[in-house]
Amino acid sequence: MVPTDTLRRIFGFDAFRGVQEQVVARVLAGERTLAVMPTGAGKSLTYQLPSVMLEGTCVVVSPLIALMHDQLRAAEAVGIRAATLTSVDENRAETIERFRAGELDLLYVAPERASNEYFRNLLTQAKLSLFAIDEAHCVSEWGHDFRPDYRLLRPLLDRFPEVPRLALTATADAHTRADILDQLGLPQDGLIVAGFDRPNIRYAIAPRENTTRQVIDLIAETPGPGIVYAQTRAGVEKLAEKLAAETGRPVLPYHAGLDPDVRRRNQAAFVASEDMVVVATVAFGMGIDKPDVRFVAHAGLPKSIEAYYQETGRAGRDGDPAVAHLFWGADDFARARQRIGEVEPSRQPGERTRLTALGALVETATCRRRILLKHFGENDAPENCGNCDNCLSPPAAVDVTVTAQKFLSA
Ligand code: ADP
Ligand code: MG
Ligand code: ZN
Repeated sequence: MVPTDTLRRIFGFDAFRGVQEQVVARVLAGERTLAVMPTGAGKSLTYQLPSVMLEGTCVVVSPLIALMHDQLRAAEAVGIRAATLTSVDENRAETIERFRAGELDLLYVAPERASNEYFRNLLTQAKLSLFAIDEAHCVSEWGHDFRPDYRLLRPLLDRFPEVPRLALTATADAHTRADILDQLGLPQDGLIVAGFDRPNIRYAIAPRENTTRQVIDLIAETPGPGIVYAQTRAGVEKLAEKLAAETGRPVLPYHAGLDPDVRRRNQAAFVASEDMVVVATVAFGMGIDKPDVRFVAHAGLPKSIEAYYQETGRAGRDGDPAVAHLFWGADDFARARQRIGEVEPSRQPGERTRLTALGALVETATCRRRILLKHFGENDAPENCGNCDNCLSPPAAVDVTVTAQKFLSA
């Protein structure tokens, strides 16, 4: 049992959510674990809580410096002694001193640190409580976001065989999970998977007719904050302008090409707003904690089912009804296929499998939720969820029947 009073004292939460307690218990028992928990399920807590309870420092590997700094702020806000050690930090000397003195609960680092001899040496100079590997799917070529730097981790971890390991990801199909266990030296029975269903999100997927029009209609019928994902920076700018002109809602763009100050300002404005629409590239939303997003619209095909689930998962974190709309076209698939042709050959089979799965999701006449959940290994979802476009208004079986009749009468 994990003490709930510690949970309350540090985080102010009354209870663990879902599998959190199970994961924390394994970590406290020193068992190597891979936790697959959806976005917003509360993965950070599963290493933050042990980091406070155990003696020594928990080293957290995280792929993005921006994400790291958000997490650092959140940890510090609840009084956890945390620091980042990255190339952009100015207080590195101080952080290193704090680490050596055993004054850090958490030390956030990027994966490429692992190949740095100075860093490897540093880790031997204080007690380590845990290695937490966030976004662990990055270690797998089968995953949707492979980062070669993650492959440097294993040799580092193996230098500290007695230090427990906790790998975390929101998104990994069965194949990728097995690969993560293998790549990070985790046991088969160390896998914990949380419920992926987000019952308050209504999924709807439609072929593209006039995307701008479709998004405007969606915004008109959906009050509250929303995120519209476009595929390119230019697409973001153009769509944001049109939506600003035609929806009567506050609309702001967000993409990596904007000045960092503007980006920060737009993000803060969105978090504070009750009716704003952000038009963004997929980078937007990572590390944002806004529970009342009422809709997420994709104005084009996402990269994978994993990406779709993660991006739509930014809607309705407060548990109130939210909608996720995706508008796609055949040309999206053509472009995706072309892109796959350009990636490194070893990654092409994985990418192709992912695109096929995405195709099945957008073209199905059956329950979208069931397909999503199946993808994440949940095979017992009902045939009809009652909260996706196909379940709410079953597509006319006409096309299929007509086609079938043609075959039959031929
Ligand atoms: P993830 O990394 O899985 O996407 P986070 O760790 O960022 O999720 O947590 C998402 C949100 O849930 C945060 O605001 C966090 O404070 C909150 N949270 C986590 N665990 C609990 C809990 N047991 N009770 C209430 N809120 C929680
Ligand atoms: Mg997280
Ligand atoms: Zn359904």
